[in-house]
Amino acid sequence: MPVYLGAPDPQWIGVCDRPLMVSHNRLRRIKSAFNLPVAYSAPWILDSGAYDVITRHGSYPDDPETYVRAVRTYDVQIRNLRWASSQDYPCEPEALAKTGLTVLEHQLLSVQSYLDLTTWWRRLAPQRPCPFRLVMQGDTVESYVRCWDIAGESGVDLAAVDVLGVGSICRRERTDLPEIVDIVAALRERTTARLHGFGVHAEAIGLFDDVDSMAWSKAARARRAKHPRCTAFHRVCSSCLVYAEDWHERVAARHAAARAGA
Ligand SMILES: [Zn+2]
Repeated sequence: MPVYLGAPDPQWIGVCDRPLMVSHNRLRRIKSAFNLPVAYSAPWILDSGAYDVITRHGSYPDDPETYVRAVRTYDVQIRNLRWASSQDYPCEPEALAKTGLTVLEHQLLSVQSYLDLTTWWRRLAPQRPCPFRLVMQGDTVESYVRCWDIAGESGVDLAAVDVLGVGSICRRERTDLPEIVDIVAALRERTTARLHGFGVHAEAIGLFDDVDSMAWSKAARARRAKHPRCTAFHRVCSSCLVYAEDWHERVAARHAAARAGA
């Protein structure tokens, strides 16, 4: 049951032995495949950077073919890529405000992205297992259920879904926890897939089989924290592997305990 540690630097994949989440927004800055890291030992997952991309630009700079070509390179060169998220459209108010579209339109775009990416993958890398995973988007319990139905009606083989991303929950307030509980319960009624919560806060991590988080970085910045074992020259450990690994140790233990009791 991995807690994927959100990595600010893709090169962590080459030195860190913990499961990592790395954003395509960071990896795409590496222009030569020779400069990509090679996975040290742990699996990692690729985030399409949906929230940042959509709230800033309203659409993806890379079309599906370009994204698939990049992911194919990561898959072959970096190795240990467990899965990659589709180019989905988050449903937070700020994302909807940027695109001017509705929740339903974001859901349709998200499902279509998954279909486009899997089609391109079959064309460009037919001999390799497809890494893309579907991400559910929505704002209410009913709308997440609708997103699941849209995927089925659009031709996604729902019975074959092994990992299902659950998006648009990372910016929710802590008071929204009961609704997140209901969203997770509604999805579990429909699938036995592992549910991955994107950027969920501490109270909600036990609801999901897998989670990722960069909360450690925000916490270090807010507290202006310097880890006692950190010997680097920076004053604040907000991009620091020592601090991040220590945080991961504690949160992974907490997540495992919560899942054992679930
Ligand atoms: Zn540090």
